[in-house]
Amino acid sequence: AMAATFQAHDPATGQAGPVYDGHTDQEALDITRAARTCFETWKRTSLPERAAPMRRAAQVLRRRASEFAALMTDEMGKTLTEGLAEIEKCAAHCDHFAEHAETYLAEQAVDMGGPKAKVAFRPMGTILAVMPWNFPFWQVIRFAAPTLMAGNTAVLKHASNVPGCALALEAVFREAGFPADAFRTLLIPSKSVQAIIEDPAIAAVSLTGSVPAGRQVASQAAGVLKKSVLELGGSDAYLVLEDVDVRGAAQIAAAARMVNGGQSCIAGKRFIVVAEIRAAFEAALVDAMAAFAMGDPRHQDTKLGPLQSVEARDEIHRQVTESIARGARLLLGGQVPDRPGAWYPATVLAGVVPGMPAHDEEVFGPVAAVIEARDEADAIRIANDSPFGLGSGVLTGDLARGERIATEELEAGMSFVNQNVRSDSRLPFGGVKHSGFGRECADFGIREFVNIKSVLVH
Ligand code: NAP
Repeated sequence: AMAATFQAHDPATGQAGPVYDGHTDQEALDITRAARTCFETWKRTSLPERAAPMRRAAQVLRRRASEFAALMTDEMGKTLTEGLAEIEKCAAHCDHFAEHAETYLAEQAVDMGGPKAKVAFRPMGTILAVMPWNFPFWQVIRFAAPTLMAGNTAVLKHASNVPGCALALEAVFREAGFPADAFRTLLIPSKSVQAIIEDPAIAAVSLTGSVPAGRQVASQAAGVLKKSVLELGGSDAYLVLEDVDVRGAAQIAAAARMVNGGQSCIAGKRFIVVAEIRAAFEAALVDAMAAFAMGDPRHQDTKLGPLQSVEARDEIHRQVTESIARGARLLLGGQVPDRPGAWYPATVLAGVVPGMPAHDEEVFGPVAAVIEARDEADAIRIANDSPFGLGSGVLTGDLARGERIATEELEAGMSFVNQNVRSDSRLPFGGVKHSGFGRECADFGIREFVNIKSVLVH
């Protein structure tokens, strides 16, 4: 079969960028099997032997940060400022796992009252990663650093609109001194993924992306009885309670919504505010959101660049106009600018209720939805009335109240009080319900792709 080609586009202008020749299905299989062969030697390396190139990977990322940030801007429109922060986060994550993998994977003695017994964490093999374009470096490094430190090797199928980033990631691990086939990029379309999943060279799959992609890839993996970890969509709810400082809450809400132009799985998408302070919060949120003016993503002061593609922008505009047609009040934005490129302004919809896309669907762009609740109990009910369960937030003046709601009430993998949800190497990251299963980061993350092995010596 012929290889697909991958054409980059600058979302800021709509102009075509470089074209990359993809791999044929046979080439992709050959690369995958080479990664599996590499596993046979990589799995026998010691933790310090893995940590040395992982620390060098962090150095490569830091040294080439501006080049990689520019590549992300070119391919998916991320602002340079956010891109530089993303590369630094990747470097810190490599350092984190270089430093802590040995502790996270230390053998655990078990008292059996006689024979020696222990739990050991052994590598599984070659892991396939299917990754999205929204954080082209972070999503991949978040997976790759623990996976390689655990003694696995990996192959990456990245999103089709970021082929340059996909190749750059392979280059980072090479330049850092990992064995040549420890981390490989496959430039293949999504229809070629199933054959890779089913090949005996692959031990397990990690996918970050949409619910439909997750469902399909997890089903294919299940068909050959291979494990999958899924990091899928979200429609994160933030409760805005009557005891909060409204201006401060609106600042946190806008920051939560506008990360990466609103194109984040853990962006705040639904702001559920108790009736008492609804009007005041709406006004404050409009002010906070208006501070995110559209501008050149290559200018360091820009807070909102283009979205990833015109098609994605059009879908967001459909969600906004349909919500308005069903009775939502437009408080800010909501107009497609008359210029080429994937532009959409910071937008606020209020009076959002079930039946509107802004309520029922994930909106993957700069659109905040305000939903009114009678009281705390009603707000919790609305927050949990979602197919998703990734992140969530509680904005309140009472920290004990916030902690109780975050811990006991919200159906989500992560609940932050008075801060927007962020991923962090030290905290397990992942969701419940349709947001997926499994965890990344921390000890829980590095133990996803290991054989948890019980050993008894009598
Ligand atoms: P997507 O369309 O699902 O794409 C994600 C990746 O899956 C891409 O590499 C894509 O390849 C591939 N893919 C799509 N369909 C596939 C299939 N049937 N078989 C195999 N591979 C397939 O997602 P997206 O629109 O790029 O990303 C946005 C979504 O990702 C949002 O829902 C967002 O919330 C979610 N997300 C979740 C997290 C998290 O950590 N939970 C983080 C970021 C994003 P192609 O590009 O070639 O189609």
